[in-house]
Amino acid sequence: MLDADFFRRWMTATTAAVDREAERLTALDSPIGDADHGSNLQRGFTAVTAAVEKEAPQTPGALLMLAGRQLISTVGGASGPLYGTLLRRTGKALGDAGEVSEDQFTQALRAGVDAVMALGGAAPGDKTMIDALVPAVDALGDGFAAARAAAEEGALATTPLQARKGRASYLGERSIGHQDPGATSSALLIAGLAEANGE
Ligand code: ADP
Ligand code: MG
Ligand code: MG
Repeated sequence: MLDADFFRRWMTATTAAVDREAERLTALDSPIGDADHGSNLQRGFTAVTAAVEKEAPQTPGALLMLAGRQLISTVGGASGPLYGTLLRRTGKALGDAGEVSEDQFTQALRAGVDAVMALGGAAPGDKTMIDALVPAVDALGDGFAAARAAAEEGALATTPLQARKGRASYLGERSIGHQDPGATSSALLIAGLAEANGE
């Protein structure tokens, strides 16, 4: 079973990974964006960790909803509302249980990813965070390490795609040949699950 402390560790691990990889995320956002993805997420996850430490939510649902709200209110740019919606919707789907099973979490995360697709209008293959998140949720039934591998593979597979959503889509064919920054950060987020589980 996964308790609030597991989800706190997830957010802490993601914050550390975003700090470590911020320059690379911003460098990926340079040729096909506006070179701010690393700093956007650093600001957002720093606020997430601070809020989680301060308010110490006692349930998985409350913790993820708090984290999502922080991302929406602190990240300027497309990724803030999208990641914020992902965590808020996932948290909402977990309800007020003190512990949730891995199956319940998988279903909740799927609801979260569906909400991101509804908000941003992106589908798999559009060269966005969705290209890492959908394969991750599909693999989550096989465990956190399988989800991490699927997300990393999904992020790498964005390189040959032409962007059809977000800022990179303005470049048309010139977006081809670059890995999507948001898919790359989504792989960090999913890797944080495995880390929180000690894998
Ligand atoms: P901005 O483009 O506003 O500067 P960021 O640089 O923080 O925001 O985030 C860019 C990332 O957001 C992209 O690499 C992409 O993965 C993701 N993204 C952008 N638009 C969408 C969308 N409509 N649906 C899903 N993901 C999106
Ligand atoms: Mg950007
Ligand atoms: Mg921007």
